[in-house]
Amino acid sequence: MKRNAVYPGTFDPVTYGHIDIIKRAARIFDELVVAVAHNAEKPSLFSTEERVDMLKKSVGHIRNVKIDDFDSLVVKYVKSKGINVIIRGLRMISDFEYEFQMALTNRKLNKNIETIFMMPNESYSYLSSRLIKETASLGANLGAFVPKFVEKKLKEKLWTA
Ligand code: ADP
Repeated sequence: MKRNAVYPGTFDPVTYGHIDIIKRAARIFDELVVAVAHNAEKPSLFSTEERVDMLKKSVGHIRNVKIDDFDSLVVKYVKSKGINVIIRGLRMISDFEYEFQMALTNRKLNKNIETIFMMPNESYSYLSSRLIKETASLGANLGAFVPKFVEKKLKEKLWTA
């Protein structure tokens, strides 16, 4: 039986932290589906298509990684793919409470789905899409945080808004 997993998130935009988790998970699972949430209640800077496109450019070359998007409950989406593992990234202790609540809520909703947490390389453990958007809007150099083409898209988006 194939061991597959879903890595769901907003990815607004994808950072080297997400990419680090994707590479680690792709080494463990036969197939990893990176799933971009539509997230109506959490407005995003980039559209779903843009977020999917940036992920495809960043990790689309990894043989066993697929990129998809979804607008239902995570557990419903994961089940519809015939998968029972969710991957989430844990940076700091500050992520823990929210991730713990979400993992246990998802387990209540579907007891067959397990959430597995992975830690990025410590050099990415402080990176967040939110901070990157803030620093980009102030004109910072983002080369250490996101791929070059993401930095370009961020600046286009924030400076023409
Ligand atoms: P969400 O809105 O679902 O939290 P994000 O795109 O912000 O979406 O994050 C998706 C997942 O990736 C979450 O589990 C988050 O903790 C994790 N993550 C975000 N940034 C990093 C990072 N720098 N290193 C490791 N994991 C990260």
